[in-house]
Amino acid sequence: MAFFTTLYSGSSGNCALVEEDGKFLLVDLGKSCRAAAMALKGLELAPSGLMGILVTHEHHDHVSGLPVFLKRWNAPVYGTAATLEELARRQLVRPNTSLTAADGKQLEVAGFGVESFSTSHDSAGCCGWRITTPKGKTVAIATDLGYVSEEVMANLYCADVVALEANYDEYMLSRGPYPPYLKARIASQRGHLSNDECAAALLKLMDNGCIRYSLCHISQENNAPMLALGTLQAAMTAAGMDPEAVQVQAALRHQPSPGYRW
Ligand SMILES: [Zn+2]
Ligand SMILES: [Zn+2]
Repeated sequence: MAFFTTLYSGSSGNCALVEEDGKFLLVDLGKSCRAAAMALKGLELAPSGLMGILVTHEHHDHVSGLPVFLKRWNAPVYGTAATLEELARRQLVRPNTSLTAADGKQLEVAGFGVESFSTSHDSAGCCGWRITTPKGKTVAIATDLGYVSEEVMANLYCADVVALEANYDEYMLSRGPYPPYLKARIASQRGHLSNDECAAALLKLMDNGCIRYSLCHISQENNAPMLALGTLQAAMTAAGMDPEAVQVQAALRHQPSPGYRW
């Protein structure tokens, strides 16, 4: 059985996990080493099962846990060349950490097939990940993206689990406390996905037969889990689809989500 979950998710830190038979990959490590270690312990996963850390981009909420974590468990790190360069420059990885530039290549990490795809975001490099477990289960993860490009869509199609960002509610963002420049940044093509944009993409995937979804990186200030879930359900109902026909979870902010085993 494969297992997917997020250890935590949101602007205070992001980390996702794909596991099979005790071996697992982490996507991002955006909280302390302690937070990740405790979450793994809670999931009864030994750190020795960690085969690699896939990084989406170098923003704080995705990499802040790396330096201390790698001191204890110096796992190989994968990312775009631009992201890895930033991580090395800022000494977020160790001099002897194995770094592999992914940039659209198909890589093999301890039996897992790993492929990055470009996402549009205001960082040096940014990507999503499509992971195939040794037994052929697929998970596609995309957070921190201003819009869903054709490349992103192509990589989300036919995954057994799709983890996509539902960052903000458009009304809450526009009426919320953020300064105008920050609102514009979030809503821009290099910012984040709104609930509506996320729902529009997921509806296309549902048409294609995807059944398990995780709504990730839900903003604390400009969104709420029930709102992200409700927006998707309303979009499904409006499209004549049965919301019960799929499984959707809103990723929890500070602790592992129930996740999916299949
Ligand atoms: Zn970011
Ligand atoms: Zn982020």
